[in-house]
Amino acid sequence: MNITDKLGRVVKDLRISVTDRCNFRCNYCMPIEKFPGNFKFMPRKEILSFEEIELVAKAFAELGVTKIRLTGGEPLLRKDLSRLIEKLSKIEGIGDLALTTNGDLLGNQAQRLKDSGLHRITVSLDALDKDIFFKMNGNFSSPKKIIQGIETAIEAGLLTKINMVVRKNINGCQVLPIAHLGCKLGVETRFIEFMDVGSKNSWDLKDVFSKKDILQKLSADFSFIPIGNRGKSDVAKVYQSTNKKLTIGIISSISEPFCSNCTRARLTAEGKLFTCLFGRDGIDLKSHIRGGSSRSDLKKLFQKVWSDRNDQYSMQRKQLAQQTQKAEMHYLGG
Ligand code: SAM
Ligand code: SF4
Ligand code: SF4
Repeated sequence: MNITDKLGRVVKDLRISVTDRCNFRCNYCMPIEKFPGNFKFMPRKEILSFEEIELVAKAFAELGVTKIRLTGGEPLLRKDLSRLIEKLSKIEGIGDLALTTNGDLLGNQAQRLKDSGLHRITVSLDALDKDIFFKMNGNFSSPKKIIQGIETAIEAGLLTKINMVVRKNINGCQVLPIAHLGCKLGVETRFIEFMDVGSKNSWDLKDVFSKKDILQKLSADFSFIPIGNRGKSDVAKVYQSTNKKLTIGIISSISEPFCSNCTRARLTAEGKLFTCLFGRDGIDLKSHIRGGSSRSDLKKLFQKVWSDRNDQYSMQRKQLAQQTQKAEMHYLGG
């Protein structure tokens, strides 16, 4: 069964945040000044159990969701994550099970993730230069460790991608080195415009390194032909290099918003359901689940929520930006 929102978009993807905790402090997501070392994350009892997440995922699968991505915070900080992956990988209809990570703990976990049934992994890496990496990510880990994690994921047989968030005057000079790394490792590399998610990352339009800037940087060493979007719900504009072996994607949420393709529902670690990355309050599913709602009750609730949906924040950014209080990215998941 497929459910359609007010703008005719069908729900296809479910993003599940498994924790709001993180061991990094990226300046575009959890700047250290706003999220100090003693920042209080959600208490354990507020977080959905694997069984509760599985219940939600099964209900969504019955409503036409075919793709699940685990995220956070940092998902690899969630204890026994492979047990959840095993459960989700067995759900009928879920053909694509992916995870986004900062890569710090990947070296030790990649094989277990693959063996549990994970198909794909996206690893965030914003710079190869150590000082710029620290500036972006808040002085944690190292590019070397993240690259080792990526190599381990590839060896384990996970389909692997790299994500790079680009901020003007900080890491624009790393676009080419990261593209060359993608080329060397044979992995698709995605460049993401710095977005105004939440209200704590001091977002300013002048700090956005746009799709146009990214392509211009890359043109020093690469020629590309556009191959459009992969599928109707893929938000990245994909390009194939004609002179090197590299595929890239650009996620241009700011310069070329793509709300008309948005087929994603988002579940936070504490069980709130969001229908837009720029939402403020989610629907509290945990109280329904812990209050005894069945899968069929949850399906009815999702149907109602999705069919009432008319989000298109990115298309209306200028009008909405001033008035919208937004949930933070580490809480909502990317
Ligand atoms: N901790 C994991 C990681 O960093 O990959 C998963 C969660 S993170 C919130 C998911 C994705 O969102 C990452 O690729 C991250 O780079 C991206 N992201 C976070 N804040 C962003 C922002 N303000 N603009 C664009 N992308 C952002
Ligand atoms: Fe960075 Fe991801 Fe942590 Fe946000 S959740 S601070 S993007 S590592
Ligand atoms: Fe989807 Fe909201 Fe992003 Fe538009 S702004 S693409 S509706 S998440």
